[in-house]
Parts: sequence; C-alpha cells; structure tokens
Amino acid sequence: MELTLDMAEELHIPRVTAEEADRKRYLSKALLDRMHLSPVGGPVAYDVAEDGTVTYYFDPTRVTETPPEKWYRGTIEKMEGDPDGGGEKKISAPRPLRDPMTLPSGTVIEKMGSKRAASFGYYTEERLGQLNYDVGSEPAAYNTKADGSVVYFYDKRLAIRRPLKCVVCGKDVRYKRKMCRACFEKDLAVRRAEGDAYREKPRHMDRRRVLFFDLELTGVYDHDEIISVSICDGTGETLMDTLVKPRHKKKWNRTEKIHGISPAMVQDAPYLDELVPRIKELFENADNLVAFGVSTDYSHIKYIYETEREQEALHRKVRCCAIEFVRFQNEHYPDNNHASLVDAMETLGIAWDGIPHSSMADTIACMKVWEALFPNYYDDVAPAEASAEQEESHV
Ligand SMILES: [Zn+2]
Repeated sequence: MELTLDMAEELHIPRVTAEEADRKRYLSKALLDRMHLSPVGGPVAYDVAEDGTVTYYFDPTRVTETPPEKWYRGTIEKMEGDPDGGGEKKISAPRPLRDPMTLPSGTVIEKMGSKRAASFGYYTEERLGQLNYDVGSEPAAYNTKADGSVVYFYDKRLAIRRPLKCVVCGKDVRYKRKMCRACFEKDLAVRRAEGDAYREKPRHMDRRRVLFFDLELTGVYDHDEIISVSICDGTGETLMDTLVKPRHKKKWNRTEKIHGISPAMVQDAPYLDELVPRIKELFENADNLVAFGVSTDYSHIKYIYETEREQEALHRKVRCCAIEFVRFQNEHYPDNNHASLVDAMETLGIAWDGIPHSSMADTIACMKVWEALFPNYYDDVAPAEASAEQEESHV
C-alpha cells in the first residue's frame, strides 16, 4: 500500500516539519522498517519535501514487531512491480540481480537456490552453525520457501569460527590437549598419579651398574665423529672423561661454539678405536646406560659394536633422561615447555657440579636428574646424601 498526498488530505492529519516530528518522537515508515516495526493504525502526521516526496509519521506507542520474514517484503514487492528498476537507480550490479532485495543497510542481495548459494560459499545460519561458525555479516543472498517465508544465506568467509569444543565433555572451549580446563585438570591428575607411581617404583638397581654418559660430536649427522666421551656411574664416580681425536674431520666450526672443543684441543687425544676396549668393558658391566637425549649419541656410539645383535643389546640398556624429564614436566609443570638439561636442573632444584655444557658436568647433572626423577631407582641412598647424614649424626 503506497501512501499518497491525496490520502493525507483524506486522513485529516496535520502536516509537520521534520523538526516537529522529531520533537514529538514520531517515526517515519522508513525508520519503522529499519527497526523491524510495523505501525498499528494509520499515520498521525505527514510532511512534504521540496521534491514532492511525502513522508508519513506514526505514533511510536502504536507499533508492533514485524515478523522477520516480512522485514524486506515491502522492498521486494515494490521492486518486483517496477520491472524497469525506475527509482532504484542506485543499484549498480554487473548484471541484473535476480529478484533483488534491499537490506536495511542499503545493500542489495539477490534470490538464489541453496546449491547456487553454496557455490559462492553462502550458507544459512543453521548450516553455518553445523559447520561451527556464527553469522558474521549481513545476508549475502536469500531464498523464499514454499510457505513464502524468507531464508537468508551468509558468506562463510565473513562468518566467525566458534572456538573448538573440549573432546571429552563436548561443552566447554578447549584449553590444552584438546580439552577444556576442567577436563584437562582431571586428566592431568590421573596422568600425574600414574607417572608418580611409575617413577617411585623401587627398581633395585646397583649404583655401580648404572652408567651415565655424554658424547660431544663434530655435528649431528652420521658422518660426524665423536670428539669427547664422559662416563660416570650412579655413585658419581668418573669412569671415563676424555677428548677423542677424530679420524676424518679436521674442523667443526659450528659445534665448536656449542661445546668449546677445538681441533687444537684434540690434537694429542686418543682415537676412538683406542678407547673402544675400555668403553665396551664398562658397557658390558652395566645394566642401564643413561644419557640426556640419547638418539644422536646412541646412533654414534653403537658403531663401537660391529654386529647388529651387539648393537641391539646395547640399545636395550639405553635409557633417555630427557624423555623421562619431559614426561615428569608435562605431569607436574604443564605450563613449562623447555626441557634442556639446564631447565631440568632448575625445575628439580639441583645444583651444578662444574660448568654447564662441559662434558663431565653434564654427565653428573644427568645422573642427578635421573635420581631426582626416580627416587627409588637404587636400594641405597646417594653417597653424597649418606655422608651428609653421617655428618648430621656426628653433630
Ligand atoms: Zn571438557
């Protein structure tokens, strides 16, 4: 229904200025449409602009909410009844839009089927919800259902991804390990209890038969060579601490900066072959061989053995202190994510004997970290603790 000036005269309503209408809080039809409100009853006033456009004003206390499916109905009907598009010249589309609809913002969208909409990446609010998105923009297109109601499509690229849900309870937002905070804490408590039981289990190991070792290499590749070997046992006694002269490599600038071992330093050191009988003897008399990060060390030291069977036997004795520390840290300090030997010493509150990164200091450090992680690894207490206890009993 178009309201004309003739009607206004028939309605016997006053003509007001825009200022007066504003003061009386009258609402124009355009404003009502934008607010998705429909007037109850006819206009209460009108105004005529210089160009002859008539604006009708409605009583703000006599309005009702427009059902969503009718929000844009008036616009569509108006444009459908106007095939030349006269009066809607502001639409500048590359091709005529199919059944265009003007949104309250002035954006014009067209009608399309859901398949075509999907080809543009447009989906209904319901479908976006299933894809775990919330609507993030005004509609990009629409369609009408058989009952005449309107369904809108929204651009998925402008939609807002919902935070992922906890894989355990499916309710709350993820915090860590794909779980919400509550589920993570619950899971952590279980893992920590299991880890503590595993670490506290008595293992009845002999301190003299558990060795800790540290190798320095010219680099991390297979062709790199060992230039330092340090070995101690569970009592802290040093069994080997020597530089090694490589057979092939003449320099190792990059790793020299890390371990500080220069070619000049190894000039008079023994070759690895000369050390192999003693290393084999030590390893054969050991039940476990522990290092902080064993994979590179093992892949080099295994060549002191020629057969695969001997190499596998060595591998069965090898334990990685770094892996055990990472597990402990994940269970007790889940917010920490650095796990170097220096970090382990700090986290466990252990003091260094010597300079960190020197081969023997690292070997002793590994021994101490291992004992802190596995307090019942040996049947007897550490010699240092034993002597401390003796001193206490003397006092
Ligand atoms: Zn949860």
